[in-house]
Amino acid sequence: MTALVSVRDLDVTFGHGANEVRAVRGVGFDVAAGESFGIVGESGSGKSTVLRAICGLAPTTAGQISIGGDPLERPRSQKFYRQVQMVFQDPYASLHPRHTVDKVLSEPLAIHGFADAEARVEKALADVGLGAGFRFRFPHQLSGGQRQRVAIARALILEPRILLLDEPTSALDASIQAEVLNLLDALRAERGLTYLLVSHDLAVVAHMCERLLVMQHGAAVEQLTRNALQNRAAQQDYTKDLLVASEGFKGA
Ligand code: ADP
Ligand code: MG
Repeated sequence: MTALVSVRDLDVTFGHGANEVRAVRGVGFDVAAGESFGIVGESGSGKSTVLRAICGLAPTTAGQISIGGDPLERPRSQKFYRQVQMVFQDPYASLHPRHTVDKVLSEPLAIHGFADAEARVEKALADVGLGAGFRFRFPHQLSGGQRQRVAIARALILEPRILLLDEPTSALDASIQAEVLNLLDALRAERGLTYLLVSHDLAVVAHMCERLLVMQHGAAVEQLTRNALQNRAAQQDYTKDLLVASEGFKGA
């Protein structure tokens, strides 16, 4: 497999001395272009920190991360953000309360010097199933699902190849979760996007991802395919326990 995203021997440590937290310990994986790769594990296992490290937002103490074979620069370049964008769990926290949807979507275009902002904003809204009527609304005038659609539109407006999705539906009601996951699935199919999706929910990862990495206490436990997950063919006891604990998990 030629990796589009490659992470090797990643270590991330927060704090010092008695406050030291080794959040990620020697984690490595490869993600192919067009693939959807999941990272699962319980709260605090280091999933979000891996995504933040890829964006250059975590105190990485060891390891190599490359995109398309090129090691990433520090700090991350403008070119990096044209290729890689992130969507966070809580769309309310990630949208500025006093910025309209139009401003949220126009800002990355201005930073990256796009001239045709208006047309791009309207297209980005349509692409996530929101009409032009949403353009001048504020976050508090949107439902949770609509807010997350805006966050997805913002991530996609620069036409990146890779989306890092950190629990993108965990803050949403169950009925809305499925709609947003289906939207993400359709966008990936249409555009050949590559996803790294973090979730504590095995059912979400089984629905969205072809392969996944299981993490525990900052370390990689094992990688498995969706097929192996559905057949409950996990190698490690920790993963078997996770499968049992995910009550109602049908491997859908
Ligand atoms: P997950 O996303 O799997 O729930 P995180 O990556 O958020 O886990 O956190 C992994 C560990 O790193 C946890 O122990 C968490 O408390 C710690 N951690 C995360 N971010 C910070 C930070 N900014 N400062 C100190 N510790 C942090
Ligand atoms: Mg997290």
